[in-house]
Amino acid sequence: MSQQLDIAVIRGDGIGDDVIASALAIVEAAEKRVGSLGLHLTELDAGAAYYRENGVDMAPGAEDAAAKSDAIFLGAIGLPDIRHEDGTEISPHLRLREIFQLYAGVRPARAYPNLPRQLQHPDADNIDLVIIRESTEGLFYTAAVHNRNPVANDDEVQEILRITRPTTEKLHNFAFKLAEKRKQRGGQGLVTCVDKANVFRSMALFRKIFDECRAGFPEIEASYNYVDAMALNLIKKPWEYDVLVMENIFGDILSDLVGGLVGGMGMAACGEIGDSHALFQPAHGSAPDIAGQDKANPLATILSAAMMLDYLSDRSGISKLADAALLIEESIYKGFEKNRIRPMEFGGDMGTREVTREIITLIADGK
Ligand code: ATP
Repeated sequence: MSQQLDIAVIRGDGIGDDVIASALAIVEAAEKRVGSLGLHLTELDAGAAYYRENGVDMAPGAEDAAAKSDAIFLGAIGLPDIRHEDGTEISPHLRLREIFQLYAGVRPARAYPNLPRQLQHPDADNIDLVIIRESTEGLFYTAAVHNRNPVANDDEVQEILRITRPTTEKLHNFAFKLAEKRKQRGGQGLVTCVDKANVFRSMALFRKIFDECRAGFPEIEASYNYVDAMALNLIKKPWEYDVLVMENIFGDILSDLVGGLVGGMGMAACGEIGDSHALFQPAHGSAPDIAGQDKANPLATILSAAMMLDYLSDRSGISKLADAALLIEESIYKGFEKNRIRPMEFGGDMGTREVTREIITLIADGK
């Protein structure tokens, strides 16, 4: 990776524009504090609105530009009334996930002070976990978009749950490395393998490979949970967990569950990471009902941008990028602690722009 880091920016549809504008302003504010980050942004047109105008879901050359970038930063894609002829939604980002094999879906869930929370237990203030959702195989291997079902007719449909050694090894190693990194910053240093190894051979293999990988990380504690027990524990005592690694559909479901525990969609950041590419985006959709009205909560996108800076730091060895990521995360935490960030999504009085302005002030002041 050269000193200049190429970021492919896709604003996409609906609130994509609002939240990307906000996140880029925050990155700029962090840059003023830590020094130039060497980011070179290229805006790429893609999404449902683009499809309506042009008949294709990405601008010519955009896929190649994304392939050459150091990271892709995306707002939101999709509009409910614009669909392909077969009724499916416009989803070029799912194609990018497949083409670039972005196997590690990273979904952090952290409790911020003064946000509405579902659990009354005082320890719920300490929820700080990350779900690693495998994102290229598992039960999504035969998702409709891939057209891979062995049998699919009006009488029967079969789906495949695919677990492969190469992807699973990379996934578990990714989870352990993340736990190592979080431990350096005060995390628990714990990885929990979530599976159903008592019932499925595919899951037994998933767990076997987990055991093989854990041997390489003696400083990190490892534990297991069957997915059904995990669902229960994530309601009863989510603060006891750190990094949780799991198959695709389990991650799909449980990441929404933990997202709900700590606020809602407007806080749900997401990174999708492969061997040579990565895409960062908020986990929410395009929310067309509030697009362009200064109502969207930009925090999921800002936190995704921070995750992107951290990823770029790991890849490039440029520590300033990680400093900027930490500065952004800490400023947001502090902002909530002092009740200076009050997004409308949670009944607060601050629109997208005011939330953005306040975080910029927090970053600039460092207090
Ligand atoms: P998708 O299937 O594309 O993920 P969805 O149908 O789950 O989309 P979203 O677009 O995520 O729906 O949004 C659902 C509703 O949640 C929106 O209509 C909006 O009111 C609210 N919402 C989502 N994201 C935000 C946000 N960042 N800030 C405020 N409200 C939001």
